[in-house]
Amino acid sequence: MSPTQFASMDLDRQTTLASWVRVRGVGLHTGHAVEVALGPACAGEGVVFERRDLPGRPRIPVSCDTIAESPRSTSLERDGVRIGTVEHLLAAIRGLSLDNVRVVLDGPEVPILDGSAEPFVMLLAQAGLRRLPAGKRLLRLTRPIEVREGDRFVRLLPARQPEIECVLEFEHPLIGVERHRHRIEPAWFATEIAPARTFGFLRELPAIRQAGLARGGSLENALILDAFSVLNPEGLRYPDEFVRHKVLDLLGDLALLGAPLVARIQAFKSGHTLHRAAVRRLMAEPGCLEEIIRHPTTDSLEVEELEPLPDRASLRA
Ligand SMILES: [Zn+2]
Repeated sequence: MSPTQFASMDLDRQTTLASWVRVRGVGLHTGHAVEVALGPACAGEGVVFERRDLPGRPRIPVSCDTIAESPRSTSLERDGVRIGTVEHLLAAIRGLSLDNVRVVLDGPEVPILDGSAEPFVMLLAQAGLRRLPAGKRLLRLTRPIEVREGDRFVRLLPARQPEIECVLEFEHPLIGVERHRHRIEPAWFATEIAPARTFGFLRELPAIRQAGLARGGSLENALILDAFSVLNPEGLRYPDEFVRHKVLDLLGDLALLGAPLVARIQAFKSGHTLHRAAVRRLMAEPGCLEEIIRHPTTDSLEVEELEPLPDRASLRA
């Protein structure tokens, strides 16, 4: 693993991909087989999704204006066109500090792959990263914001460096209380967070399927728990994989802001609905976010290609 290669991306300049990469897989909720292609975009473009299977190839930029309500996942919608389960891909893009990416799909949902963000990190690494001649855009929180739902909450506090802390609580012998706290940086994301998989409880599956969800779900793309243990034969990737996935989901959902958030992020027993509520509150409260455009510190401003990121084997080492 070369964390420094990821860390070196976290500079003052905007980034994009150096080439196109693609992968095919099933959507967790729709069960549709979909190909997703990821490629370069211009400075200032942000992350833009495109449905190439629809007439006119409609585009949906990632922003708080295109957030759709969806149960157990996060979706984008504009003019009746929808793209489902964007959160793990967005977490990978944000986690690696990428600013501008084109995401082209031939179906309605981002493939779930193995249920984590690791395959997307590998794919983005394969594409190689490129710095652009434009300063990075950040959103700095200026005052505390909190959204609550009973005892669950997402709390955002002003901070000099972006940091995240999630606490998860389930009455289950394998979970109980789990906590993860760390400064948000690419090397940490790639090694400590991206591989954590989505999870669900066997007892909830009939209701989820009844609601028409998780049609593509299997032990290949989700951790499934019965009353005592995890059913997946390979077991857990981390003893606290569950809270790590919660961190992943929250980072992916906060990417809906359209730029990195500089704040101390705290979440207790949160889920997608509460995460979206936090994004909406941030956009609705005047003056709680201050836009910062970084000034590149290096002399040379021409487009520069960086080393491709390491492969899967070296990543975990
Ligand atoms: Zn998730």
